[in-house]
Amino acid sequence: MNLKMKPIVDDLKPYEPGKPIEVVKEELGLESVIKLASNENPHGSSRTVQKQLQDAEMPNLYPDGHARELRLAVADHLQVKEGQLLFGAGSDEVILLLCRAMLTAQTNTVMAAPTFSQYKQNAAVEGAKIVEVPLKDGVHDLDAMADAIDDETRIVWICNPNNPSGTYVSTATFSAFMERVPSDVLVVSDEAYGEYVEADDYPDTLAMLDTYENLLILRTFSKMYGLAGLRVGYAVGAQALISKLEPLRPPFNTTTLAQKAAIAALNDQAFVQDCREKNMREKNKLQTFFREIGCSPYPSETNFLLVDVGVNGDRVFDALLHRGIIVRSGEALGFPNCIRVSIGTEKENEQFMASFSEWINLQNA
Ligand SMILES: *Cc1c(COP(=O)(O)O)cnc(C)c1O
Repeated sequence: MNLKMKPIVDDLKPYEPGKPIEVVKEELGLESVIKLASNENPHGSSRTVQKQLQDAEMPNLYPDGHARELRLAVADHLQVKEGQLLFGAGSDEVILLLCRAMLTAQTNTVMAAPTFSQYKQNAAVEGAKIVEVPLKDGVHDLDAMADAIDDETRIVWICNPNNPSGTYVSTATFSAFMERVPSDVLVVSDEAYGEYVEADDYPDTLAMLDTYENLLILRTFSKMYGLAGLRVGYAVGAQALISKLEPLRPPFNTTTLAQKAAIAALNDQAFVQDCREKNMREKNKLQTFFREIGCSPYPSETNFLLVDVGVNGDRVFDALLHRGIIVRSGEALGFPNCIRVSIGTEKENEQFMASFSEWINLQNA
């Protein structure tokens, strides 16, 4: 091919998603396959969402690009102003827009390693220098991250709780960090799993927005709300910042259906509460299981566990795949001796534990 890409494009690798169920069924000739690989909500989504999907109409008309009704609903839910919200086709798209707006080859961006892959991927496309600060025992090292900031730094990414480790940074740590960050550096708090957090000292970043105009919060409907397939996420920040970003947004980036579903999902907080409780119960069960079997899970405030399995994660991934269970190998996530397993339904987790035990017993035989 003779087309001339940006030099960086030749180095990019496509995102490796969790393997889809249908693909695994076909490849391995399995009848039943469960997916615990992408941190989706195993309980589906609210029944009121499903009703919205059935009542869908008017695909010939463009969506409301401003997402007015959804905007009102989210503003009301979070108690922020409508002008403080920016919607994206998933928070993934907001990450892309931020990089596009702020990063150039002359700038740098600071992030943890390992963390969510899309910060690095999108920053690389803009040619920015990527400064990675290793996690300390699986947790963001905010002191070292603050030290890494220089005059060319534009964005610092805090994935809280962190994907793939599941750990979180506390209010005290986060506040001390914000005090150190210069006001011309944007801090992004990616809270994709915020609804799952149980810890009392998880930062209330919404309450900090008045103090820090350089703080931006990312939230999504893909995880707890169970709308990963519809693609809606958003940023919350100072109006001045949001209005700067708004012109970069593709005009019709969230669909009519997704907007309606998101409103319905937001209005069913009983569903959220129920999923939260189920997740806590099942997470405890899985953590106990791993500890008893001699594997150490990282402490998790999310709907997934990163577990040290003592051998290369690819091996455990393969062994489980052949038993009809899709997890993520830690290999591609920066934790080669780990697997990342999403917390499923009670039945799925039992199936997982049975298969995992079977594998462990074979190793010890
Ligand atoms: C899943 C995830 C996202 C992206 O979610 P969208 O589906 O694009 O809204 C963002 N950040 C983290 C840390 C995630 O795990």
